[in-house]
Amino acid sequence: MKACLLRTPGRTDENPLEFTDCPEPDPRYGELLVRVQVCGVCRTDLHVIEGELPPKKSPVIPGHQVVGIVEKTGEGSRRMAKGARVGIAWLHKTDGTCGYCRRGEENLCDTPLFTGYSVDGGYAEWIVAPESFVYPLPQGFPDEQAAPLLCAGIIGYRCLRMAQLERGAKLGFYGFGAAAHVAIQVAKYWGVEVFASTRDARHQSLAMELGAKWVGGTLDAPPEKLDAAIVFAPAGDIVPAALKALRKGGRLILGGIHMSDIPSFPYDLLYQERTIRSVANNTRRDGEEFLALAAEIPVRTHVQVYPLSEANRALNALKNDAIPGAAVLRVGSA
Ligand SMILES: [Zn+2]
Ligand SMILES: [Zn+2]
Repeated sequence: MKACLLRTPGRTDENPLEFTDCPEPDPRYGELLVRVQVCGVCRTDLHVIEGELPPKKSPVIPGHQVVGIVEKTGEGSRRMAKGARVGIAWLHKTDGTCGYCRRGEENLCDTPLFTGYSVDGGYAEWIVAPESFVYPLPQGFPDEQAAPLLCAGIIGYRCLRMAQLERGAKLGFYGFGAAAHVAIQVAKYWGVEVFASTRDARHQSLAMELGAKWVGGTLDAPPEKLDAAIVFAPAGDIVPAALKALRKGGRLILGGIHMSDIPSFPYDLLYQERTIRSVANNTRRDGEEFLALAAEIPVRTHVQVYPLSEANRALNALKNDAIPGAAVLRVGSA
């Protein structure tokens, strides 16, 4: 099969992904073989490919926002039928037995496997995944539109949940890429006002178009105090600025898997019961709840489609803020 293989992490402008032939995977017990139609490009892929996250498997096929069709079910798989359209996300598998899994916090599992990081992902024509970690996809989303829901959408939803928003709440977004452009649609559906801080003019105009109440530069102070804020951009120097924008008791949620160092800041910015919390991965329940909600709203994603062979170019565009919305790789024929 054709796939984009990462042998050694490197800068995206030096084409670290090799578009090449790889052996087709075989589904094992409880797994599905899925023909990939499209795979979304996530900032986490960028962190894997450029080596900001330590390698877990080498070489590896990245990609964890897969929309595909079930081709073959391994022994012991019964939930999905051949021909079903499914989504495969970041959480490939958990042990199901550690204290976190038993408490319903499988996102924090002690021995997790991640799609496109610890196991091969969706920048390929075929992928295997455990049936119990695969999502049935709601109708009404074309493949390209559905892909960004699977990580950008689900992680953004978990961030929104952690922000504990009530109707009428004021919410800040720092960075306005794939996750924020979905999360704003959920926030507005819940009656929440969104204040978007982002450096790129294209991202600013998308935020306006999607109904942000205010749009400004990354470190500009929003005109009103915020009940909560979510940092999607991987820049630690945003944290003190975002804390400054919060009201007393406000919540700051950090949505990324990787962030540059957070500079020191006066305790006064945190005092008055402001909290900072990171979001790590997601549970299957987050995924199921979000996909149902996305269909109900319905969420509309803005996507820029690239052929699989041009994954390096798509990643480079993402790195340079040149994608309003989300980048998606087309793998199978439309
Ligand atoms: Zn576990
Ligand atoms: Zn992701």
